[in-house]
Amino acid sequence: MEHVSFLPLSRFAVCGGTHGNEMSGVYMVREMQRQKADRTGSVSVTSVLSNPPAVDACRRYMETDLNRCFTDALLSGPTTDDTPYELRRGRELNAQLGPKGSREAVDLLCDIHNTTANMAVCLIFYSFDWIALHIYKYIQSKMTSAPVRALCLNEPPSEAYSLESVGKHGIAIEVGPQPTGVVRADIFNMVKEAVDLTIEWLQKFNSGSTFEGGEVEAYTPVGSVDYPRDPTTGEITAAIHPQLQDNDFKVLRPGDPVFQLFSGETVKHEGDDLYPLFVNECAYYEKKVAFKLTKKITVTLPSVGVKKD
Ligand SMILES: [Zn+2]
Repeated sequence: MEHVSFLPLSRFAVCGGTHGNEMSGVYMVREMQRQKADRTGSVSVTSVLSNPPAVDACRRYMETDLNRCFTDALLSGPTTDDTPYELRRGRELNAQLGPKGSREAVDLLCDIHNTTANMAVCLIFYSFDWIALHIYKYIQSKMTSAPVRALCLNEPPSEAYSLESVGKHGIAIEVGPQPTGVVRADIFNMVKEAVDLTIEWLQKFNSGSTFEGGEVEAYTPVGSVDYPRDPTTGEITAAIHPQLQDNDFKVLRPGDPVFQLFSGETVKHEGDDLYPLFVNECAYYEKKVAFKLTKKITVTLPSVGVKKD
């Protein structure tokens, strides 16, 4: 079986409030800062509140979505008086935690998000990154309070648009269901456990543990589905069907109900067997996404360990 070794992973960053109304990350970061939790054994920990004005206003963002500002093109563009706040803040965060793609970048960046969808703990990766996938495998094997799943996006690094792409390795921790502006203890505990297990994994990795390979299950995006709309006004004409609501990660087969029109009829799923995610996510109404569709895949991981010189 293949083995892959990596340099020690000693610089870890935890970010919250990238979306200012997703409260688990906001309170997680504030608590870490209150406890001055800046080192655990071999791992230095930087905690960052990503978008303070949006947190103060309890809004997702002030001018533009911060978590879409981290492509190479957006990070390297000129800053002018017209540059939206989040783009300027994104460049600051890139200077502090990156620069993206450089040797100076933090070894691992975890960005904490909440979803209003019933997704429990979902780790999101841009690529089939062995470190991120091993941390996922570890968290999944240790966490008993909630299901742990992974969404692999497979975007080239230059096109990766979210904050965790600034680290050498990056994971978005998406946890729900939690309404925006609300903090729930059960959801907070899932976030805390995922972060603590990540630090525990990094410690073991740095101290020379070998993590055996094996198979993990993940989801990859196939597309997204918009709400039915009135062709004249563009207003939505349906809600998520009660049989789909809260059923993220449960297979959708052709003929399964997906929308209930306000006029009463049911709209059914057409096409292949697929897995819905972000079902009725509050923040995606503006993006014209009622839910995302994914397929389930199996990823075979090599064993990993620290590179010895
Ligand atoms: Zn978010």
